[in-house]
Amino acid sequence: MKVKPVGIERTELLHKGKANNVWATNDPRFLELEASDRISAGNGAKTDVIAGKGEANNLISMAIFSQLEEKGIPTHYVGPGSNAASKIVLKAEPILLEVIGRFKATGSYVKRYECENMLEFDGVYVEYTYKSDNAGDPVIPNDAIVALGILTKRELGYIEYLTEQVALTIRDFFAECDGELIDFKIEFGRLPNGQIVVIDEISPDTCRILDAKTGMSLDKDRFRKDMGDVAEAYQEMAKRVAGLAEDEKSSTGGCAFMA
Ligand code: 5GP
Repeated sequence: MKVKPVGIERTELLHKGKANNVWATNDPRFLELEASDRISAGNGAKTDVIAGKGEANNLISMAIFSQLEEKGIPTHYVGPGSNAASKIVLKAEPILLEVIGRFKATGSYVKRYECENMLEFDGVYVEYTYKSDNAGDPVIPNDAIVALGILTKRELGYIEYLTEQVALTIRDFFAECDGELIDFKIEFGRLPNGQIVVIDEISPDTCRILDAKTGMSLDKDRFRKDMGDVAEAYQEMAKRVAGLAEDEKSSTGGCAFMA
């Protein structure tokens, strides 16, 4: 369980992204990542503001990062930040890849390969996109990742292994919240000592989650596909994650999921 780090205070805003704000802190080793209510899709083509999304995503993301740490999967997560929408993280050099894990085929995969929607993969299917708004985040083959010097072959193998571990951990996590994880995107970075760690956020903005009973989308697809009830979906997931934490607290006297 992570507690609020003592003595780390945010200072100036370093970067305002499409969905998140990055703050410097009074300690150069740490940053504060603040999840905002901004939402966007189609590389910024469609934008809106969803009240309460930042707090909901941060609660979910902190719970998931705590779980990853408990399973021995290295992340840059340190603990809660100065408000309910923010967390303190170790400063890491981002690796310019989006790593996608899929249990079932949907979204861009189905468009690309014209396969059946929700085709189930044998295990987790891992693919990479090159993180560049200019280039439109294209899928990047393993050989290109190495040829461009983004990762060594060995590091790529390690990232694939970590992604599979993340996949299994978060699939179980969402299953405990009566959700089915369909796919997700994660990012990695390098700490100053060279260690590769999971960075950024893992939330309904970066995962597709269906309600296990009804099949209803509980993630950003509600916004992407104009399905309505966008804020409600984020609140529902946050409520389920908070409920899980309460259950853990009462059964163990502690709290496994929540930071
Ligand atoms: P797809 O490639 O099918 O569009 O997305 C696969 C998974 O990765 C989905 O869970 C989606 O939410 C996530 N994902 C892919 N690219 C991005 C991105 O640029 N931003 C965010 N937030 N999620 C992404």
